[in-house]
Amino acid sequence: MKTATEFDTIAAISTPPGEGAISIVRLSGEEAVQCAQKIFAGQNLQLVSSHTINYGHIVDPESRQEVDEVMVSVMRAPKTFTREDVVEINCHGGIVATNRILQLVLSNGARLAEPGEFTKRAFLHGRIDLSQAEAVMDLIRAKTDRSMKVALNQLDGNLSHLIKNLRQDILGVLAQVEVNIDYPEYDDVEEMTTRLLKEKALEVRQRIKQLLSTAKQGKVLREGLATAIVGRPNVGKSSLLNHLLHEDKAIVTDVAGTTRDVIEEYVNVRGVPLKLVDTAGIRETVDKVEKIGVARSKHAIEQADLVMLVLNGSEPLTNEDRQLLKLTATKKRIVLLNKMDLTRGIEVAQLKELLQPDEEILTTSVLKNQGLEQLEARIAELFFGGIENSQTTVMVTNARHIALLNQAEKALTSVLQGISAKMPVDLIQIDMTNCWDLLGEITGDSYQDELLNQLFSQFCLGK
Ligand code: GDP
Ligand code: ZN
Repeated sequence: MKTATEFDTIAAISTPPGEGAISIVRLSGEEAVQCAQKIFAGQNLQLVSSHTINYGHIVDPESRQEVDEVMVSVMRAPKTFTREDVVEINCHGGIVATNRILQLVLSNGARLAEPGEFTKRAFLHGRIDLSQAEAVMDLIRAKTDRSMKVALNQLDGNLSHLIKNLRQDILGVLAQVEVNIDYPEYDDVEEMTTRLLKEKALEVRQRIKQLLSTAKQGKVLREGLATAIVGRPNVGKSSLLNHLLHEDKAIVTDVAGTTRDVIEEYVNVRGVPLKLVDTAGIRETVDKVEKIGVARSKHAIEQADLVMLVLNGSEPLTNEDRQLLKLTATKKRIVLLNKMDLTRGIEVAQLKELLQPDEEILTTSVLKNQGLEQLEARIAELFFGGIENSQTTVMVTNARHIALLNQAEKALTSVLQGISAKMPVDLIQIDMTNCWDLLGEITGDSYQDELLNQLFSQFCLGK
């Protein structure tokens, strides 16, 4: 097998692991076509036109043994994802055959791609910028339609476009400042220069703040909103959980970077990905009703961004209910009065005294499937409130982008402080330039190798 050089030919299985109807082995690089040809029986791939798909068989050149019946796409540079020659071998989805083809490719001139290396090449060849590369990664991981839209948006380059405009503006001012410094003979040049810097710093900072204000929703979209369902035994928690899980929108995912057997459950409620906290705890209560009380809930509440507090509407409030109401008082929460199909036993006036003044109570019957639409609407409203209908096209969702925007905002604050303190212009300029650099790191216009490697290594293999 070959060792890595900058743009040698790389290969990987690009479809998800496991059995599928088809699997794709993807190659990219100068020798991609030549390499595929060595193991292909059918048309001469080196002679076919670009962007064609070709029927044939994969044959082990040593044993002459046939491995699989395949369709091979040949796409020559530069109109490809990586801007290099790309070959995709569509084979039957068995793990054995697919791996076998990958092995053949690897012993005939290609090297196994590192995770994210295809996308990295697309970036290095200028086909996409860094925030777009990250969008590809987000797209792969997107958990709901809505997060998919945000990622797609970013892939379109909306964020990049905005950041590039901001940088252009800053550059314009920096250039103007240079000119002013070069012509110090005018009396008011110093004053004019600082005014210019101040105006621009305020304006850019405002726009960065706007972007950062979308970050919270963005984080929810990316990572799921940690949600706890709490309540004393028998109020209907498990039933509610099952309702949410069984509306055939449950998504069960391995948690990246943890052991395989840690599973998180996601449900998609009108575009809000809820990451359900401690569902094991809820399930256990089925068997051990008495044992599990406030203590376990406490832990779930601490971890949650959103709490659904379930009360039994057919019984009077208990001490345990009161405790749970107190524990969740500062949380974003939805109070559910469940079992509304039974005779009411709770005193609503009494309950209201324990809630925030403007807090609503939702009445539900999970058993009879009543009030659950309102619950879903409430969840969506809580989290998309203003954003849902407004035309906020750009949302910052990526932790790295958020960190950089925060730093850029700080640099601008330094600019403004420097101006107030009447510091020399060339010192103020340094902070302004720093802001320009930080924004550039978002799009990858200023980047370091180490950052790139770290970033692209988070990709799945074969992307
Ligand atoms: P948990 O202990 O809080 O998880 O409660 P469960 O979901 O296990 O429900 C306890 C019992 O209440 C079960 O027999 C459910 O079928 C029943 N239950 C749940 N929701 C309702 C409801 O809205 N109305 C009525 N009448 N029974 C319900
Ligand atoms: Zn239960």
